[in-house]
Amino acid sequence: MQTQVAIIGAGPAGLLLSHLLAREGIDNVVLERHSRVHVEARIRAGVLEETTVEVLERAGLAARLKREGLRHTGIQIRFAGTRHRIDFASLTGGRTITVYGQHELIKDMIAARLAAGGRILFECPAVALEGFLDCSRPVVRYQSSGGREEALMADFIAGCDGHHGITRASVPREACRVFERSYPFGWLGILAETPPVSDELIYCHHDRGFALFSMRSPTLSRLYVQCAADDPLDDWPDARVWDELAMRLGPEAAHPLVPGPVREKSIARLRSCVIEPMRFGRLFLAGDAAHIVPPTGAKGLNLAVADIHVLARALRAHYREGQSDLLDTYSGICLNRVWKVERFSWWMTALLHKFPGLSAFDERLQLAELSYLVSSRAAATTLAENYVGLPLA
Ligand SMILES: Cc1cc2nc3c(=O)[nH]c(=O)nc-3n(C[C@H](O)[C@H](O)[C@H](O)COP(=O)(O)OP(=O)(O)OC[C@H]3O[C@@H](n4cnc5c(N)ncnc54)[C@H](O)[C@@H]3O)c2cc1C
Repeated sequence: MQTQVAIIGAGPAGLLLSHLLAREGIDNVVLERHSRVHVEARIRAGVLEETTVEVLERAGLAARLKREGLRHTGIQIRFAGTRHRIDFASLTGGRTITVYGQHELIKDMIAARLAAGGRILFECPAVALEGFLDCSRPVVRYQSSGGREEALMADFIAGCDGHHGITRASVPREACRVFERSYPFGWLGILAETPPVSDELIYCHHDRGFALFSMRSPTLSRLYVQCAADDPLDDWPDARVWDELAMRLGPEAAHPLVPGPVREKSIARLRSCVIEPMRFGRLFLAGDAAHIVPPTGAKGLNLAVADIHVLARALRAHYREGQSDLLDTYSGICLNRVWKVERFSWWMTALLHKFPGLSAFDERLQLAELSYLVSSRAAATTLAENYVGLPLA
């Protein structure tokens, strides 16, 4: 099979790229390891920056998101027993965030691609990449749903296959540099059939560890508690999760919180990782394939969209205007934003979590920084403008 751009991975990065390229008349094929049912059911991120919503709107992918998404004008931060509000709208000239589940966005994107005749090959994992460093027509070898090995030839390969995908692993070690940090804890997350107890996300700093109250719809709450990085899921029966949430969220949120059926429960380790550069000959990495952030700043999905915004524009310039300079600057432009977002996500994580072995002095510093954050307009503005999203390049 032949195409102009071979896209590996039908996550937010791969599907958005496929959609944007198709709108410009650029032929592409998406290879996805899992089934459609599987990718549409995966519970992951849910906070969209205003810039992300704008990109989706311009792409014609935001109709349901605009109808059903929950627009938030701020977040709440609780520490030392008191809740405080960071008012994004007043601090950033009216900018906001939208809560809309990543799996809902995935459903919208897949439906739009298939309706437009787009080619998404589900249950077709890419198994090898060839010739992307030194050949003008690289090849992606993949397994067809019938189990046969097939070849997809393309001008370019977009590696949108997440942190554990094949594209990152195919890059020669000597051609890249990987920057990593592991945090000594994880997040236990549940999606529960219980109405949100607050109109806004509540970030909680607590002696027992961090907690986050969040939501996905007027009937679904998404809740997280900090746990040990190697905690088995069996150590967290539902009753224990609700008890911890009650303690960490504080009485004003815990009192109205009614434990409902838990639809999904998982533990995610917190890590930061960046691979440099993000282009290797005819292979471009985007989204989690190129970088991951701890979820504290709600940035993973947004960063994937920002990469694709740059990559789609560069491919358009290449095919429509014969210009390759935007392809050449793709990596530099993206990494500029990536490192700012890595910094913000690391800072939010360091500010709000209980680190094993933290001294009493360090704990006082954390509380002093939180107190400064909610009492200084300058400090609150720094958080707000990063949270709603830095301007796109
Ligand atoms: C388990 C998990 C939970 C998360 N929870 C949160 C959260 O609560 N809040 C938050 O802000 N962010 C969260 N994130 C981060 C956010 O969801 C990601 O940043 C976002 O999904 C990145 O999009 P992507 O398209 O780059 O990668 P992905 O969404 O990971 O998509 C990659 C796709 O590639 C496919 N793939 C992999 N290998 C191959 C292959 N060889 N061949 C073909 N296809 C392949 C995968 O099946 C997948 O569909 C979470 C991420 C994960 C992994």
